[in-house]
Amino acid sequence: MDFAEAQKEALACAKCGLCHSRTRVVFGDGPLNAELFIVGEAPGFNEDRDGKPFGGASGMLLDRLLSSANLGRDAVYLTTLVKCRPPESPPRSPKPSEVSACRPYLLAQLAAVDPKVVVAMGDMASRVLTGRKEAVSRIRGRAVPLDGRYVLPTLDFSRALYTPADRAFLISDFSRLPELMETDRPSTYETMNVPRAPGRAGAEREPLQPGLW
Ligand code: SF4
Repeated sequence: MDFAEAQKEALACAKCGLCHSRTRVVFGDGPLNAELFIVGEAPGFNEDRDGKPFGGASGMLLDRLLSSANLGRDAVYLTTLVKCRPPESPPRSPKPSEVSACRPYLLAQLAAVDPKVVVAMGDMASRVLTGRKEAVSRIRGRAVPLDGRYVLPTLDFSRALYTPADRAFLISDFSRLPELMETDRPSTYETMNVPRAPGRAGAEREPLQPGLW
């Protein structure tokens, strides 16, 4: 499925139960030649209302973080693992089946944009995009070379907005972006700078969702 097909299909999608809790499908936003691609978990209240990812307080924090890395929002492709807002207030996390149902759209976006750096925000995005099982708090800020690009796991905005210590981690992780954006794309699938626990290397690399990459 190419990008245009994915976007058209997603905007009318009812492949999972989240179609019942959304107001608008939040497919993604940004240029298709972006070198930086940021993936959150799911749309929230503001995103569901406006149809654009990373709005409200999260969006303001994102803009500040990008600015500190000498990047503007208009140079970044923004999206989420699932394109529809989960129910409940605050919204619950998407279920694995919902992430799986929405995965073809994310893959079409990644294939079309072909970014050099992917920032995976929060536990679920980190696990899906790196294929690693650890909590994001254990591997955040370490660039994982995968599929010819770097995946940088970091904390999600909901944690960083309310916890100063987590906000400091997020700022530190985003400060790596200028260096990564200047670096050549990785040429292998191997992780270069994420330490593996002795004797558990194979287990650590077991993908949560085989086939994403
Ligand atoms: S979350 Fe994704 S798969 Fe589920 S209804 Fe929305 S667009 Fe379709």
